[in-house]
Amino acid sequence: MEIYSLTALINAITSFVLGIFVYFKNKKAPINKTFALFAFAVFFWSFSYFLWQIAKDPQSALFWSRSLILGAIFIPIFYFHFVIYFLDIFEEKKRILVFGYVLALIFFFLTFTSSMIKGVTPKLFFPYWPEPGMVFSQFLLMFFGYIIYSWYLMFRAYEKLTGIKHEQVKYVLIGTFIGFFGGSTNYFLWYDIPILPLGNGLVAVYVALVAVAIVKYRLMNIRVILTESLVVLIAFILLAETIISKSLLELLFRGSLFLFFCFIGYLLIKSVLNEIKLREKLEIANNAKSEFVSIASHQLRTPLTAVKGYISLMIDGTYGKLSQELQKPLQNVYESNEKLIDLVNNLLNLSRLEAGKIEFSPTLSSLEKIVSDIIEELKINADKNGLYLKLVKPKRALPEIMIDQSKIRQVILNIIDNAIKYTKDGGITIKLRETDSKEQIMISDTGIGISQDEMKGLFQMFSRAAAGTKLHTNGSGVGLHVAKKFIEMHRGRIWVESEGKDKGSTFFIELPIK
Ligand code: ADP
Repeated sequence: MEIYSLTALINAITSFVLGIFVYFKNKKAPINKTFALFAFAVFFWSFSYFLWQIAKDPQSALFWSRSLILGAIFIPIFYFHFVIYFLDIFEEKKRILVFGYVLALIFFFLTFTSSMIKGVTPKLFFPYWPEPGMVFSQFLLMFFGYIIYSWYLMFRAYEKLTGIKHEQVKYVLIGTFIGFFGGSTNYFLWYDIPILPLGNGLVAVYVALVAVAIVKYRLMNIRVILTESLVVLIAFILLAETIISKSLLELLFRGSLFLFFCFIGYLLIKSVLNEIKLREKLEIANNAKSEFVSIASHQLRTPLTAVKGYISLMIDGTYGKLSQELQKPLQNVYESNEKLIDLVNNLLNLSRLEAGKIEFSPTLSSLEKIVSDIIEELKINADKNGLYLKLVKPKRALPEIMIDQSKIRQVILNIIDNAIKYTKDGGITIKLRETDSKEQIMISDTGIGISQDEMKGLFQMFSRAAAGTKLHTNGSGVGLHVAKKFIEMHRGRIWVESEGKDKGSTFFIELPIK
């Protein structure tokens, strides 16, 4: 069957090229080295597979099917070796690795004896399918044992890791599932289960995804790289088809198709690279903007704080008793100045966030305590406006969670403060509860509400709903944007629900417990 030899050839070429590529990207790194070994084992397996498929007599079919097993023996061990470097747990798992190498060596010496493969017989439409020998099942046990254990380790790490590493592990895991699933379709026929090795071609995808995870780690770039890999993969398929052409006409036709595709692929990759360059430029411009906002805000903060200080001294009568007419306007100046300080602080937060300069320092904290403190603080404000402010605690105390206290405090404070700002009668109810592996804070008010239209962009920069522009002319629309960013840092969710105008609004914040 042509398709099986073809996919094997593609697997061989892909793993060979990617192995070399990853190795030369960083020759010294253990991750790159072990990956190259693994890719080489996959290459060895698939190239022998290819030769076995095209074998014309039982002797050479037997030889190549044994040689194929040789590659397969080392695939799981090299893979495990790679995974423990990748997850930084080499020292802990060293012994299991050594044990794996010993097993692999034993199987290695048995490969060219009849205990691994007895001989070849016709199965379905394969003329020379290998028959399992005495130790073949034991070999399979080792194969899947090491693979599944590696998966387990990675899955466990995936849940704990954050940032780039989290993304990398995700790609390796997805790749692994696809690849080994595909590769395993080979094993059924050995036991006379009539399932065809149709998943074979998926092995190449697997090696490609793992390579991507090692060399490139940013999500944006991963998309770009995937485009490139796809182009290269298709080019390989076309090339392989050309090589195995049976007549001159076929050779000419497939060859020109290959060349034509190479040309189109080249254009495609070039345009993708251009796009990256453009993006980089944009990033530089964006950084300059953030820098500007950051400096400007810093410069603004100092005089604003000075103004604040002097005005409070004036109000307190340090410079002589104020006349009755001056009291009220000065109070107004003071409040406006406070709002400006608020805005400048928020802008500063935002520019730091954008530049990735804000620190995230989670500690084990009680959400209930944070919320109670905030309510205590804002009570006076609510009372002054004739609003109630009540907290509904959960029946069972919530567990403490890892959060950055000052950031979560700022978010909740902002939302309750908004609720007071945008409510004329009634009040605000705050509920805390635990839903499956998350803690949820619900802040509902009986205020002015938010329409469907306004809700869409609410968490975006400088977004202000009708309520904001009418009721409070000096809000900025930055607060909720920063809030969303802060909650996202915690891998949480923030959203709002409202029945519409004058029906009140409810803000939800959800934070993962683990
Ligand atoms: P600011 O309140 O400073 O304008 P925010 O980002 O905190 O900035 O809020 C953005 C907008 O969302 C507000 O201008 C207002 O229109 C709307 N909003 C926020 N909270 C509420 C609420 N509880 N009820 C109605 N509208 C709200």
